[in-house]
Amino acid sequence: MAISRRIFLKAMAATGAAATLPQAARLVSAWAAPARHAGRHVQRRWVMVIDLAACDGCKKCTKACQAGHLVPFEQEWIRVIDAANNQYDKYSMPVPCQHCEVAPCVKVCPVGATFHNPEGIVLVGHNRCIGCRFCMAACPYGARSFNWTEPKHTATESFANYSPEYPVPHRKGTVEKCMLCAHRVTMGRLPSCLEICTEEGMKAIWFGDANENLVTNGDEVKKLTQLLGDGRAFQYKDELGTHPRVWYLLPSRRDLAAPKPVAPAEDPSDPYRP
Ligand code: SF4
Repeated sequence: MAISRRIFLKAMAATGAAATLPQAARLVSAWAAPARHAGRHVQRRWVMVIDLAACDGCKKCTKACQAGHLVPFEQEWIRVIDAANNQYDKYSMPVPCQHCEVAPCVKVCPVGATFHNPEGIVLVGHNRCIGCRFCMAACPYGARSFNWTEPKHTATESFANYSPEYPVPHRKGTVEKCMLCAHRVTMGRLPSCLEICTEEGMKAIWFGDANENLVTNGDEVKKLTQLLGDGRAFQYKDELGTHPRVWYLLPSRRDLAAPKPVAPAEDPSDPYRP
């Protein structure tokens, strides 16, 4: 994709990234600078891809997210759920906010406190949030949490540093959720969940710019279309028309997976039952 390469090289030049850095580090460093093409600003379109074949369900992503954003311990901005269907064995499925392009939470907010930023990340402005929790009821992914009490461990944080991209300190009576680590990307870093996943060796989480068609797990760099093109990609609850920015890769290809044999249920009233 010619435009992607040009954007990437220009951003590289803008950040002065060393040519000796590994490819993934150079790419992430380039993302810290605004993308430009032919002298014009080009909008980023952030996406996440989670490879369920690589996830071992360790929940380190949940813990790293909580630590990185001082999330109250009873909240999980990325939950790891147990999943299974007729075709596959059981597997673990990390579920952050899906950053829906057609976001039910944004539609129902009566005060405009939740919104898309220009790069497509769904954020919450806690200065506006009135705690009505309509967004929590509307979200089909259970991605939002409510601060019922004053979060204790953020008492020393200053509100002077608050932004919707880094909503710390947390506020009683407001709704919170994953903001795709918008604050880290502008510093040339990858999301906390991804970083720990790769450090721990699973490398299950990919992040990148759909406009550039490039994603990385912090180790390798791939084209987004290549990653989504092996017959395993799906979007969670895509039948709802929310158009998530988070993609998943099934543990095996849909067209290769043999259906699991299903044992007939035993009928206790069956007179011929052994
Ligand atoms: Fe909103 Fe839920 Fe979609 Fe996130 S997953 S954008 S909170 S509806």
